[in-house]
Amino acid sequence: MREILLNPGPVSLSDRVRRAALAHDLCHREPEFFELQDQVRSRLLDVYQLDPARWTAILIAGSGTAAMEAMVSSLLPEDAQLLVIENGVYGERLSTIAEIHGIAHQVMHLEWGEEIDPVVLARTLDAAPATTHLAVVQHETTTGRLNDLGTVSRLCRERGIELLVDAVSSFGGEAIDFEGWGLTAVAATSNKCLHGIPGTAIVICKRSALENTHARSLYLDLVRYAAAQDKQSVPFTPGVPACLALNEALAELAEQGGWSARRARYSELQSRVEQKLASLGIQPLLAAKESSVVLRAYHLPDGMDYKTLHDRLKFRGFIIYAGQGSLAQRMFRISTMGDITAYDMNCLEDALTAALAPGSNAGGI
Ligand SMILES: *Cc1c(COP(=O)(O)O)cnc(C)c1O
Repeated sequence: MREILLNPGPVSLSDRVRRAALAHDLCHREPEFFELQDQVRSRLLDVYQLDPARWTAILIAGSGTAAMEAMVSSLLPEDAQLLVIENGVYGERLSTIAEIHGIAHQVMHLEWGEEIDPVVLARTLDAAPATTHLAVVQHETTTGRLNDLGTVSRLCRERGIELLVDAVSSFGGEAIDFEGWGLTAVAATSNKCLHGIPGTAIVICKRSALENTHARSLYLDLVRYAAAQDKQSVPFTPGVPACLALNEALAELAEQGGWSARRARYSELQSRVEQKLASLGIQPLLAAKESSVVLRAYHLPDGMDYKTLHDRLKFRGFIIYAGQGSLAQRMFRISTMGDITAYDMNCLEDALTAALAPGSNAGGI
């Protein structure tokens, strides 16, 4: 049976992307690879219509965390002062990265899922006038909260602070106004909203952001990658199959109408899941207007633990995702990224009814 992945990446692949990954063996020092690399980099800029004279897309073999760590560890000058906003696991990971690389930083810590209050943020920034950079997650996958980057970016622009964004679970599926928000760099990945396979970490940054930097790692130095990739080269062995799949996935995204069409599709699927769960007495953690369209978190029903719900849905071909940390006892998550068809959605609705309806013996499981 085909299993449908409703976890936040890796995602269920379309056949054309799956085939592209293994289409042919390719040496990464041959012109065919460099053409592929050029095409992927240019298609990545096209997702948000970015001007290649001002922006560059950099590819690293790794998962999304490699993109976060490359962005934070190599784009900040030696004397940078960073503020990290935490309201979930990934914001806390940004702080851990700063800590490990010895970057002077402060943390604005919020409870998981809490909204970023602009008044508190303004006060925090005003109390730390030496702040040069701010790092924040756009879509906190921990809870599904979509942080309001319009507001965060305005407070940064007013103070001349450079903004670094973890958009690993939103790039390709949510609005990102690179120019309007005055972003400096954005971390992304091949295997979430872009619908590729895991293995390519992506950083999109302003070309000017590569000028006054300080490398704190060899492997994650974006300046080194950008210099090599601009000369049709690579510093280290890339994840070649992941690049092949990503190129196909980007072509597919463009043919399907780009990020806004994908956002509309995710939104439709998430409302169907929300309505179905509501009819079964299950409530979301956050309201739809505070959430991304990529993933929603839901309260577990009284008397059912995560493992029971997970196993009942897996038995029917659907993989859901647990809450992290202390939320694991109370919550589950459903993402609608990936190649999910109308037929899959009908089956999911039936599977949710079977797994959750009172009195259902759930097929013996
Ligand atoms: C998935 C994710 C990451 C990266 O996680 P990896 O396990 O390294 O792929 C980073 N930030 C956010 C917001 C994510 O959802």
